Amino acid sequence: MATDTKTKATTAGNYFISNYPPFSFWEEGHREEVREAYDSKGPDGVPLGVYHHTPFCRKRCHFCYFRVYTDKSADEIKEYLDCTMRELEALAKNPLVEGRKPNFVYFGGGTPSYLSAKQLTALTDRMKAVLPWDEAEEVAFECEPGTLNAGKLAAIKEIGVTRVSLGIENFDDRILEINGRAHRTKEVYRAYERAKAEEFEQINIDLIAGMIEETEENWQRNIEKTLELDPDSVTIYQMEIPYNTTIYKEMKDTGALIAPVADWATKRRWVKEAFAALESAGYTISSGYTAVKDPERTKFIYRDALWSGADLLGLGVASFSHVAGVHYQNLTEIDEYMKVVQEGGMPLKRSLKTTEEERMIREFILKMKLGHVEAGYFSEKFGVNILEKFAGPLGHLQEEGFLEVKGGTILLDRDGLLCVDNLLHEFFLPQHQGDRIV
Ligand code: SF4
Repeated sequence: MATDTKTKATTAGNYFISNYPPFSFWEEGHREEVREAYDSKGPDGVPLGVYHHTPFCRKRCHFCYFRVYTDKSADEIKEYLDCTMRELEALAKNPLVEGRKPNFVYFGGGTPSYLSAKQLTALTDRMKAVLPWDEAEEVAFECEPGTLNAGKLAAIKEIGVTRVSLGIENFDDRILEINGRAHRTKEVYRAYERAKAEEFEQINIDLIAGMIEETEENWQRNIEKTLELDPDSVTIYQMEIPYNTTIYKEMKDTGALIAPVADWATKRRWVKEAFAALESAGYTISSGYTAVKDPERTKFIYRDALWSGADLLGLGVASFSHVAGVHYQNLTEIDEYMKVVQEGGMPLKRSLKTTEEERMIREFILKMKLGHVEAGYFSEKFGVNILEKFAGPLGHLQEEGFLEVKGGTILLDRDGLLCVDNLLHEFFLPQHQGDRIV
């Protein structure tokens, strides 16, 4: 059972919804449905994205639930990157991809900025030779501040990155240390200044509300320091403690049911206060997690395209893809992933061929996370009147005071937006409602 964010304490489990149907419904052994998706031409006009996964980090954060490697040599990293490119080269030959160019590219992890400037340049030269980026509207890149020296940021700019995202998480060195982060604030400021100097189109900073030992005073300082930096966008996550984290393992060892972090009401209030301060400074709240300085200029194409049903080629260990209506995930162990790719196979772990109804629900719940949903979009794309289809749960959430429906638009209020991940299960198909780990 996942964390119920309507209850007070933070217990173990995921609350963040990133896809639908839930991952627990994806199955191994359906290779043919992924094959068929790649053999198809796919519908016209669907944007294509590429996600490249770097599973390496300097240190494992205590709240991290990803499979990351902190002990790989330069040669091992080189071999892994070669595998991700072999994967791309194989995928690009399929009818679904042939002749298309990516509309967006995303480098995630792990820590993409863990790679050296030389590795990055070699990697992206090879990527571009397979699928040129000249039509990409956005190339986004996640960075850990302590990995960024001037040369590396110049290389990141040089390869064509438009949006850098700095995983700052907190501005207090003690809190960073207690939570197992590798970087410190000195590195944050240095990285930020260097990123500014490179004149990236967009700098985003990530924060987490409710890290271990977060306090009222320190959270206010985080807000002040964020405003001082004045980034193009700010993303704030509420701390959750998924299984697989060091924090959860410690909870299990001591028999603790409550995680040693702030309760959900406090975390929501902290994000609410941060959003209010950012709004006062001229920012616009563009999702349950994000504030942007200039909504006309500052887009997040990766999120918006993905949440509108774009095709995504996920490269690398454990990466997620979505192609022609089929979800799939790559093998989750690096050695196994590399072995299969080196033998010329597809490194498939599990998949799910979605129905049109599931794709409609997926887009609906993901768009709810933006705080506003246009009914007209769904009648045009899916021929479904969502106001009628979801009359029950929408009415219920309206009664609870989380949203209103104005004309053809569903509008979440701020409290609804701040706990949106906990409001979405009501829109799931009955067979998916029992499982809340998504
Ligand atoms: S930097 Fe990110 S991916 Fe790496 S260990 Fe920390 S939370 Fe996990």
